[in-house]
Amino acid sequence: MKQAKILLLLFIGLGLILGLGKSQLLVLSAFGPEDSELSKVIYVVENNLTEKLITSVDTDGKKLAALSFDDGPDPLYTPGVLEILKRYQIKATFFVVGESVEAQPGLVKKEIEEGHELGNHTYSHPDLRSESDFKTEAEIHKTGQLLQKLSGTKGHFFRPPRRLYRKETIAIAERYGYKTVLWTICVENSKTKTPEEMAKRVIGAARPGMIILAHDGRLDRSLTLDALPMIIEGLQEQGYEFVTLEKLVGAGADN
Ligand SMILES: [Zn+2]
Repeated sequence: MKQAKILLLLFIGLGLILGLGKSQLLVLSAFGPEDSELSKVIYVVENNLTEKLITSVDTDGKKLAALSFDDGPDPLYTPGVLEILKRYQIKATFFVVGESVEAQPGLVKKEIEEGHELGNHTYSHPDLRSESDFKTEAEIHKTGQLLQKLSGTKGHFFRPPRRLYRKETIAIAERYGYKTVLWTICVENSKTKTPEEMAKRVIGAARPGMIILAHDGRLDRSLTLDALPMIIEGLQEQGYEFVTLEKLVGAGADN
């Protein structure tokens, strides 16, 4: 009897700690940088809640990695990214923002012509935690239609801006035919101030099936452009091959 009481108290205590921990993490996440150590913890928490999110792919040890770029197209940075990808003969995935697609259709056409994959990153890059289901649908659908018009397909993958979403967001994306993809590691990080540091951090985190997030728009991305060749070369030296997300997911052990 006494043991049962102790066990019960332990359970309640553990529940309180876990409950408190999670709510604190989620509150902090609203103010934290996009790829802090803290947000890494949050991915794990979120992933346990929703198994539908893709943050990496089990390639059964095969050294494949996907490079993905968010927030473009942007005339300041997208051409530079495309040039680097061409130089290394790499195909990547661009999660584009609908309103930028409308402003820069030529850049999106170039991405398509050069064999890259397009993903849906909403129409206006909102915080989807505070958007209604109706607005979320409009954000996803509008961009899907733009992609369909330009490339003949609405794309396979959706990524919520700044990885902020509600449970319903993922269900809505799924209804529109998208798998929701986050990332394994982000190139831009508050702790790494130079391209060398950025590259070292990404290369240090290398593992088969990793999804790398970089950005080609919205803010100053010149450091990213400088880090990119170092990241590519560093991972290629380790035997990694870069593929689009569609190929990476297709190569997954589940398929
Ligand atoms: Zn974004």
